[in-house]
Amino acid sequence: MSQPDRPRFLAVFAYSRRALSLVWTTSPRLTVVLGTLTAIAGVLPAAIAWVGARIVDAVVTAIATTHDPRAALRFVVVEGLLVAAMAIAQRLLSLAQSLLRAQLGQRVNVLILEKALTLELAHFEDADFYDRLTRARREASSRPLSLVVRTFGLVQNAVSLVSFAVLLAHFSPWAVVVLLVAGLPAFVAEAKFSGDAFRLFRWRSPETRMQLYLETVLAREDHAKEVQLYGLGERFLERYRDIFGRLYREDRALAIRRDAWGLGLGLLATVTLYGAYAWIAIEAVRGVITLGEMTMYLLLFRQGQSAVSASLAAIGGMYEDNLYLSTLYEYLETVVPPASGTLVHGPRPEDGVRFEGVSFHYPGATEPALDGIDLHLPPGASVALVGENGSGKTTLIKLLTRLYRPTRGRILLDGLELGEWDADALRGRIGVIFQDFARYQMQVGENIGAGDDRYFDDEPRWRSAAERGQADEFIGTLPAGYRTQLGKWFRDGRELSGGQWQKIALSRAFMRTRADILVLDEPTAAMDAQAEADVFEHFRRLAEGRITILISHRFSTVRMADQIVVLERGRIVEHGSHEELVALDGRYARLFALQARGYR
Ligand code: ADP
Repeated sequence: MSQPDRPRFLAVFAYSRRALSLVWTTSPRLTVVLGTLTAIAGVLPAAIAWVGARIVDAVVTAIATTHDPRAALRFVVVEGLLVAAMAIAQRLLSLAQSLLRAQLGQRVNVLILEKALTLELAHFEDADFYDRLTRARREASSRPLSLVVRTFGLVQNAVSLVSFAVLLAHFSPWAVVVLLVAGLPAFVAEAKFSGDAFRLFRWRSPETRMQLYLETVLAREDHAKEVQLYGLGERFLERYRDIFGRLYREDRALAIRRDAWGLGLGLLATVTLYGAYAWIAIEAVRGVITLGEMTMYLLLFRQGQSAVSASLAAIGGMYEDNLYLSTLYEYLETVVPPASGTLVHGPRPEDGVRFEGVSFHYPGATEPALDGIDLHLPPGASVALVGENGSGKTTLIKLLTRLYRPTRGRILLDGLELGEWDADALRGRIGVIFQDFARYQMQVGENIGAGDDRYFDDEPRWRSAAERGQADEFIGTLPAGYRTQLGKWFRDGRELSGGQWQKIALSRAFMRTRADILVLDEPTAAMDAQAEADVFEHFRRLAEGRITILISHRFSTVRMADQIVVLERGRIVEHGSHEELVALDGRYARLFALQARGYR
């Protein structure tokens, strides 16, 4: 756990303090109410037991003397009131808890999402991190409150036990010792085993993650197609079963140990308790205590025991809550590099984009994805990036858009390093469509408007962007035009073909009227060759004076660019116009000839 100096069995309390402060900051008022009610509900059982003793004693006295029941009845009324108060306190406690649950769930979800907005792309591509994020999100609405409720429950039982002890001390301080000694071993054992389970849970996170992943693959619509056609279901299900089997064996060992100890210590407690019963009975017979006191002490012992077992149950559940909170806080405390620069203009606007000796390693990769890239793209340049899959084309775009930072070298825009640009100013300059562009399950128009947040809802702008992206025509045929819902998650959602989605994505890029660097990373791959060439030609005409960067595998499109950059294993191997590269008779010329032959 995070606090190694603590005794191991205290691990179950590791996050109680943080959960409390989370609850406190969510609603101080409800927290105070919860605390007060907890204290009241903790003390009332002892008070009820005490009044019960007074009833019995008053009855005994009345039988022996006046035969007047009034004194006894008074105590009956008091006990009735106290029991009613207890019921009210319990009811209010559960009310306060359900109000807090709603608020806290919302608060934690917002904390998680706010954090998500500050993260870098690299975080989302990191498996461990992504796992933390999903786990944090999954149980955000229940876990924090559950931990708090259990912690308060423990406090309530502790208050009860202390008040029982105060009453018992009148009988004999040894009785207090007996009550505690009977419960303590089981308490410590439960806490220890819960702590072990907590650690076990954390170790096996990768296996649990694989299980979850398999569940997703087997039960989600976007995987169903391939899983069925390739008959992978049984194999994956078998894997799922194997993981369960392995985890189950570990769980069983722990559960057996835990229950064996629980049984032994529980029996010990029962024996002690009945020893105490015998002792109390003997003292009553000897006339050392009254009949009323005997009833009270017996009640105190029995309730004391149930307070102890309630505490054990609370501790048993707390480790899971702790597990959740440890994930939540690990996620929330992920270090994000400080926000970048503040400048909104570069000193040399006529310079455009410059890569100087840029190299990049993905975290954990042994080979560089880009290696020593030098490239100058003046304003107005139209560039095509060519290369095999994995040669680094997309990575270059990710660096240019500052989704990643170069490992070595620097990238300049208008003579100013990307890191020094204000994030918004920089984003406003660049319009990108990635091959895996987002397909928002929202209205068609909003899918286009997403290209410029300022005009997200601006229908006239949607229309003109869609015209330029050549999406206008098919949108006209949709049932609700620009207001048609897309995707299958929601009612009446329409699904589009790959090519239609790409036209939406293109239109989205045209929303960025201010952007003077436009990047198309194979967004036209689902269109036929002619449509792609049309789109690119169109794109270039509209992009007058801007830098356009195109990634494509189709040489018929590529050859339209003024500059062609051929990448291989993260390095630029050839660079020039189509004519120059064909004359060079190198890699580009060979690939071009190969494809041209295919078309003849
Ligand atoms: P291209 O766009 O030319 O197909 P990429 O730029 O996507 O190539 O990939 C370049 C290299 O970087 C490849 O070897 C790929 O395996 C690796 N790579 C790409 N994305 C990641 C990532 N998110 N994490 C680790 N490695 C990556």
